[in-house]
Amino acid sequence: MIRQIYEKNGGNDMMDQLVIGILAHVDAGKTTLTEAMLYTSGQLRKLGRVDHGDAFLDTDEQERRRGITIFSKQALLPLPTAEVTILDTPGHVDFSGEMERTLQVLDGAVLVVSAAAGVQAHTLTVWRLLRQWGIPVFLFVNKMDAPGVDRAALLAQLREKLDGGCVDFSAGEESLWEEAATGSEAALGEYLDTGRLSRDTLCRLIARREIFPCWFGSALKLQGVEELLTGLEEYAPRPAYPAEFSARVFKISRDGQGQRLTFLKVTGGVLHVKDVLTGTSAGEAWEEKADQLRRYSGEKFKSLEEAPAGTVCAVTGLTRTFPGQGLGAAEDAPPPSLTPALSYRLYLPEEVDPALAMGKLRQLEEEDPLLRLLWNERLREIHVQLMGEIQLEILRELIERRFGWAVTFGTGSIVYRETIANTVEGVGHYEPLRHYAEVRLLLEPGERGSGLAFRSLCPEDDLDRSWQRLILTHLMEKPHLGVLTGSPITDMRITLTAGRGHLKHTEGGDFRQATYRAVRQ
Ligand code: GDP
Ligand code: MG
Repeated sequence: MIRQIYEKNGGNDMMDQLVIGILAHVDAGKTTLTEAMLYTSGQLRKLGRVDHGDAFLDTDEQERRRGITIFSKQALLPLPTAEVTILDTPGHVDFSGEMERTLQVLDGAVLVVSAAAGVQAHTLTVWRLLRQWGIPVFLFVNKMDAPGVDRAALLAQLREKLDGGCVDFSAGEESLWEEAATGSEAALGEYLDTGRLSRDTLCRLIARREIFPCWFGSALKLQGVEELLTGLEEYAPRPAYPAEFSARVFKISRDGQGQRLTFLKVTGGVLHVKDVLTGTSAGEAWEEKADQLRRYSGEKFKSLEEAPAGTVCAVTGLTRTFPGQGLGAAEDAPPPSLTPALSYRLYLPEEVDPALAMGKLRQLEEEDPLLRLLWNERLREIHVQLMGEIQLEILRELIERRFGWAVTFGTGSIVYRETIANTVEGVGHYEPLRHYAEVRLLLEPGERGSGLAFRSLCPEDDLDRSWQRLILTHLMEKPHLGVLTGSPITDMRITLTAGRGHLKHTEGGDFRQATYRAVRQ
């Protein structure tokens, strides 16, 4: 049986490392499917149930009580030739910040669609993000045990609403070859010549997102789960990594003892315990030691001596890291495309000093990229910006549990944004006595929802590369406010076209001033 094969191979350090995310609309059955995958592969002796509050991955107290996943979690799943890290991500839109940043480290994704509900609006949001990050997708149509489901109609819906390249992989090899072959010309040639498609060809089509394999089943009844596992084993892309060390931070959280955990994926070379890591956060360079490397599965972890490329682990001892940060040879990732939509005033109990509280609450902001805390110095008020009411409720409980403050919130208001209707140039000069900097920017309107994109087209002969990078950093380091309503600007592309410094009179901060002025103009 497949269980025994999996058990024999568990824990081999030489195996390929794969990071697979489980994504879906809330209630489609992600957590149940993850449990079923772990159980089928012999990692769990007993099947937990979200409905009974004992799911392996819903470890947080609020998650167990509400029966929903709030924080992304990981589990280890050994397949015969690869060790898979499964990341179970939250499905509710309120927590899509968690989801979006885990996308940064995925080698592939399992998208769960409920047969009872079909493709939902959130499924489309997830699909768009998966496309944006170029992630190969395996589809699992869950809840096929529900009455009245129609498999052919569901496949047709996937093809129409998601992508014409959705191929039923449970239908048998002959028909899957035929369907997959229409995905590309080369594959069609191979099919016509040989009457089949090799495993390599299928892997390549999947890795390039030309086809999307689909399985149908029921996580609750353990139907189709083994086929999905075999499919991942056979077809999930096996990335090759460079020898130079690099890593991507995708999440910050705290363990039961309050220790700060930096979750990262090693994307090149090897990370050893006690390695000294360097990075730049908020414009300042730092150097810190990786005290402990933890490989989590559910609530438990194993300490690692070293983490080779492809591994996801939690590192202790780092205090300055942030989600999206690149360490070693990796660059920082672009900021998330989703941004909080609602704003609420936060009321603290009277005996708590708001300025002091703000310092502590920053911890939570660091852990959730779609939570923003604003401090109004003049009114001594704290405002929170987030995605919706569920997130607000979770935040209230989290603050109570972690800091012991019973907080309340005012009525919500919408967080407005500003953009431009037309292309415009902005020029900023900064030249008080013995200072000099000039920055020219081209601002172009972008697609709705695209956020801000930055680049430079300035020749290096005109302005040194290091100054150019500094200007781009200043563009990215804070939200810039528009001039119409004072709301943060969004949906535009900002290009550095020219800039000038002075050999003697330009100092580090001068370009910051000139950059801000160019945007404002
Ligand atoms: P998540 O929000 O995507 O993590 O979904 P959960 O795993 O929490 O499941 C949501 C609900 O759907 C729970 O009540 C599950 O018991 C139920 N469920 C999950 N998988 C199946 C399935 O295959 N068939 C049926 N009928 N119900 C399922
Ligand atoms: Mg869940």
